[in-house]
Amino acid sequence: MRKLALHWQILLGMLLGIVVGLLVSSLGMGKSFIIDWVKPIGTIFIKLLKLIAIPLIIASLIKGISDLKDISKFSRIGSRTIILYVISTMIAVTVGLVLVNVIQPGNSISAETVAQLSEAYNTNAESRVDSALKQKGKGPLQFIVDMVPDNIFSAASNNRNMLQVIFFTILFGISLLLVKEEQARPLKQFFDSLNEVIMKMIDLIMLIAPYAVFALLASLIVETTNADIFVALAQYAMTVVLGLLTLVVFYIMVVKVYTGRSPKFFINGISPAQLLAFSTSSSAATLPVTMERVEEHLGVDKEVSSFVLPVGATINMDGTSLYQAVAAVFICQALDYGLTIPDQLTIVLTATLASIGSAAVPGAGMVMLVIVLDSLGVSKETLMVGLALIFAVDRPLDMMRTVINVTGDATVSMVVGKSIGKLSDPSAKNWDDNYKKL
Ligand code: ASP
Repeated sequence: MRKLALHWQILLGMLLGIVVGLLVSSLGMGKSFIIDWVKPIGTIFIKLLKLIAIPLIIASLIKGISDLKDISKFSRIGSRTIILYVISTMIAVTVGLVLVNVIQPGNSISAETVAQLSEAYNTNAESRVDSALKQKGKGPLQFIVDMVPDNIFSAASNNRNMLQVIFFTILFGISLLLVKEEQARPLKQFFDSLNEVIMKMIDLIMLIAPYAVFALLASLIVETTNADIFVALAQYAMTVVLGLLTLVVFYIMVVKVYTGRSPKFFINGISPAQLLAFSTSSSAATLPVTMERVEEHLGVDKEVSSFVLPVGATINMDGTSLYQAVAAVFICQALDYGLTIPDQLTIVLTATLASIGSAAVPGAGMVMLVIVLDSLGVSKETLMVGLALIFAVDRPLDMMRTVINVTGDATVSMVVGKSIGKLSDPSAKNWDDNYKKL
């Protein structure tokens, strides 16, 4: 019997997870079974993906850079990547701002609902406001200072220090290019081989992906309380979703027009990563799969993807920036805090920066939203009410914006790959075939 393609298996796992989660919630029994016996499969899966993230970045970035042969190419890749990331983020924020100003979801929410929500979620909001405000108040160059590690072992011991690890690895890779070929050869062979082994580890981990997404979604649903709130916030949530869908169409068009690849090719290639992004709400956890898909299915050379994708997972979050723009304006509308045109321009800037600063983990975008609201001069109390207001629907929106974050990174890697002649036909190497062989 022909085995179902991976993305269908994952989709099936997700749908079954949702159905089982809803059934258990509505019957009011089996919740502890799901949490004790099913959820751990999802947790293990996320841990496994995180486990290989740092070794994967090191091995593939060193392989990518050392394959380049000359450094000028690397600076071309680097500058194009950063420029495209900033442009795509600003486009995302602008789409969000246009939609939220046209739809005005905050004006339809009653003062009563505002009061109810802020009471229900006040404590959750407070901790987020505090942790975000702590990040503020550092100097303007602090983020560059933070990027440079002072100890590679301590940097590599925490997945949140991905940019520090990338910094070290780039320096290492460039130095490898600069030493004599025979001196570099043993290390290059070592990292080439390490890279192959890690790619194989991803194949193995992905064997449990369909079961893991089932576990993740079923447990997420049984742990969610108070579905009524979704209705009150439906207009706001729909505005975010509409914006995210607009971005998907935008990416598909960019890929079609610039690289000539069809929407079907693009979506088929990237969909397993998208489905995982949806199930885990973390671009960092999804990174290994994004890399595998972009290289082996979308045909982007490792020289490009090994740099563009890890950097993108940490700094390029188009979905998050769009959400931050919509959420900031929504909160101001709901709390009758008038926004001027300069305020809206401030949002373009701060949401771009806040999305760059957001960690690639669940819920990070909401923490950094505080920075956007704070730049508009709202008081700490308003900040707290604002976050409490949107808290209830944040997780589903997080799942969706993470899909967009990952898709945006994949789009940019295709564009950069094409621009330097490093986009090939991937049919020669088929990952699903390897997967089936296992
Ligand atoms: N969960 C998102 C990500 O990992 C970040 C966020 O918007 O909260 O990409």
